[in-house]
Parts: sequence; structure tokens; C-alpha cells
Amino acid sequence: MNIRIGNGYDIHRLVSDRQLILGGIHIPSDKGLLGHSDADVLTHAIMDAMLGALSLGDIGHYFPPSDPQWAGADSIVLLQQVDRLIQDRGWQIGNIDSVVVAEAPKLKPYIKPMRDRLAEALGLTPEQIGVKATTNEGLDAVGQKEAIAAHAVVLLVGNQVGM
Ligand code: MG
Repeated sequence: MNIRIGNGYDIHRLVSDRQLILGGIHIPSDKGLLGHSDADVLTHAIMDAMLGALSLGDIGHYFPPSDPQWAGADSIVLLQQVDRLIQDRGWQIGNIDSVVVAEAPKLKPYIKPMRDRLAEALGLTPEQIGVKATTNEGLDAVGQKEAIAAHAVVLLVGNQVGM
């Protein structure tokens, strides 16, 4: 069986007057993540893991912050573009595991909606998508509620024999 593994990491700054979007889900919060797109840090980490699995670089290469067409972009749409990229090369996602590191807000009520949203966007089942949340125990910028970070691992499975 042809398999590839990819790892992704991202962090965005928390600021006032921005919506908080994680895994394609709007989460009520007095602060949101700053970024050129919707700054969905979880979806970005997953995209980087998908690209990394095939050594295709990172999302900054495909969706540069300097390009105005990605201003305010829905990261779920970008995720689907990356999914198309890997499918065109003969690969599909076996499973995703991820962790969001955030001191606040509490993410537990939103874990299942995030898994459902990501699964829907990728044509997968929620059982193929792990989303976990943890705090940073008050330490560093994430612990001081100045940022939210996310880590993701993706396993890709080759569609074709002899790849
Ligand atoms: Mg990002």
C-alpha cells in the first residue's frame, strides 16, 4: 500500500474586531484571529499537512498573503483546492488528526461541528477526522490569549498501484 504522512503547524494572533473561525466553524468569542484570509488556523495546519505529505510546499506558496484575491478568503474553499491538488496526483486522505491550542474560548462544544464541517468539505466521514483541543497552561503567547495555534497530521493513501 502506498502511504504518505504529512505534518502541519500554524499560529495566528488574536485581536479584537475579528470573527473566530476554526475548522470552518464560527465560534462566539470577543476576539478573532488576524490574517489575510479568514485566518482559520486549524484548516491552515491541515492544508499544510496535506501538502507536506506530497512534498508540495506550503500554503503560502499556493495562496500568498501578498495576493489580494485571497483577502478574507474562506479557508474551507482553499482546503478544497488543496484536496483537488492531491486527488489529481492520485492520492486520497486516509485520516487526519489535529490539535488546537487555545486558552479561550472553550472549544469542546465545537469539536463535533468542526469534524463534521471538515469531513463534508473533504468528502470524508467525521470518523476520519480527529480534532482535539488543549490549553497552553497559561504559558507563552498562546497561554496569554494572544494567539491560537494548531497542529495537524495527515495520512494519504495512494489510489493506484505502482505509484
Ligand atoms: Mg495561517
